[in-house]
Amino acid sequence: MMKVLRFADLVAQGQVQGKRVFIRADLNVPQDDAGRITEDTRIRASVPCVKMALDAGAAVMVTSHLGRPTEGEFKPEDSLAPVAERLGELLGRPVKLVSGWVDGVQVAPGEVVLLENCRLNKGEKKNNEELARKMAALCDIFVHDAFGTAHRAEASTYGIAQFAPVACAGPLLAAEIDAISKALANPKRPLVAIVAGSKVSTKLTILQSLAKNVDGLIVGGGIANTFMLAAGLKIGKSLAEPDLVDEAKAVIAAMQARGAAVPIPEDVVCAKTFAADAPATVKAATGVADDDLILDIGPKTAGRLAEQLKAAGTIVWNGPVGVFEFDAFAHGTETIARAIAASDAFSIAGGGDTLAAIAKYGIEQDVGYISTGGGAFLEVLEGKTLPAFEILARRAA
Ligand code: ADP
Ligand code: MG
Repeated sequence: MMKVLRFADLVAQGQVQGKRVFIRADLNVPQDDAGRITEDTRIRASVPCVKMALDAGAAVMVTSHLGRPTEGEFKPEDSLAPVAERLGELLGRPVKLVSGWVDGVQVAPGEVVLLENCRLNKGEKKNNEELARKMAALCDIFVHDAFGTAHRAEASTYGIAQFAPVACAGPLLAAEIDAISKALANPKRPLVAIVAGSKVSTKLTILQSLAKNVDGLIVGGGIANTFMLAAGLKIGKSLAEPDLVDEAKAVIAAMQARGAAVPIPEDVVCAKTFAADAPATVKAATGVADDDLILDIGPKTAGRLAEQLKAAGTIVWNGPVGVFEFDAFAHGTETIARAIAASDAFSIAGGGDTLAAIAKYGIEQDVGYISTGGGAFLEVLEGKTLPAFEILARRAA
């Protein structure tokens, strides 16, 4: 994959001492109505970069977006104040919050300040050049450490990287780049992808892009239902997108042309209603009734897929293969999760509900890499070059 400058390397080369370092982090945490942070994973994940800069003797500025404020209109609920407090607790030192910072920031080497919500600046989302140039002028080194925003080109994520004297990847972004290249650019084969979840339409580009690269493409959830239709099977009232059957057939054909396959479920778990307490019935894939809802893959299918995952060299996982929120229909997803955990393969997983499933089965430690960027991760799987990677690679050339 592309070569970018890494902040850790600049630190190791002694190029950070006394420098003004601008870190674009992702500190966009969920808050309750009173503004209290309900989940601080993103702040904790951003601490290593800030510490690295402080330990190297830099004057450190950190910013992030929070929520969806209107540019140019400050409202108290859009303030990073609670984040400054939490970041201070984690760093063991107070973190001053600075507003109105675009035209100049006072910060000394060995100090860290948090720059108020960058989405309050007019021109942020449209990557306004004047704003980006002003931000770039604040620093000697720009550090992109916000993978969650890597698929967007905004003033604090892209423009600043164009104009700052030096632009590099922070440790969190670098870890994502390394995991993604290990899984998709130089995978140990066989490379098996699981693309599941509710709808084909949201993941069609991913299926098409992966069909060109992977050795096995496991479909599940509502996506598998559409593939069952494409294979000529009846699916009753199950969630599916009949309009996309031709696209599903094309994905199957593209895989077959490469000597690879899209395994179609041989058995499924059905219910008559979409409910947690609906009785679950295992049926052969050829035996689904007109009033059935397929809510999970069956045990034979799950077992066969688990074998395939155990033999894989690399696994990419996005999407639960059933309605795992309902225990009666969670067996398929749990089997897949445990097979990934047990496999020697390098595995990478991402997606909101996929992360919820990983947490439900407690396999965090057994997944090679869990991506922190929902939308950005999906765009990588689509085969797109993320703007953040593109500009950092260009600046490294
Ligand atoms: P992710 O957030 O990991 O990208 P998705 O949002 O695409 O995943 O899909 C997850 C959702 O799909 C879950 O809420 C799950 O209940 C639902 N789902 C999975 N299988 C089925 C199915 N057979 N029928 C209806 N919904 C399903
Ligand atoms: Mg989801």
